[in-house]
Amino acid sequence: MKAGFDSRNWTDKGYSIGEGYKWLQGSMPDVRWTKWIWNNFNIPKHSFIAWIAIHDRLRLRNKLFKLGICEDEACLLCGTEPENLHHLDYSIENAWKIWSRGLKDPIKKKVVLAVLTALLYHIWLARNHSYWKKAVIHPEKLCKVICVEVIERSQ
Ligand SMILES: [Zn+2]
Repeated sequence: MKAGFDSRNWTDKGYSIGEGYKWLQGSMPDVRWTKWIWNNFNIPKHSFIAWIAIHDRLRLRNKLFKLGICEDEACLLCGTEPENLHHLDYSIENAWKIWSRGLKDPIKKKVVLAVLTALLYHIWLARNHSYWKKAVIHPEKLCKVICVEVIERSQ
């Protein structure tokens, strides 16, 4: 704290908890996903899984395969490509590019972001369901659940 008092000149300017907190945090780079993940229309559990995905910490099959935990790295949902983060979020990134085009209304943007976060969460859930229950959830069912959740949250 003494370094903070010296470098920020708090002795003369006065100390505030907010200034002290910012100093303790240090400088942090701006990241482009902040508004997506911490959108207040998101359901917290959706934000949490998206945050883990952004940090590439989901235990996807490509990682488990490299560790020797599973014998196949194929995607559990489609089986056509290796299951990795790019495969999981490729469609979400493209959906954002398409859906956000021309959107000026900040509320509509938040709703679209909430849908994308919910989509990522439910893809992760469906992937886990297909592994543990040996059955793939129908996409139509996922869409209905996402619609209900996002509408309830954004009201
Ligand atoms: Zn797939």
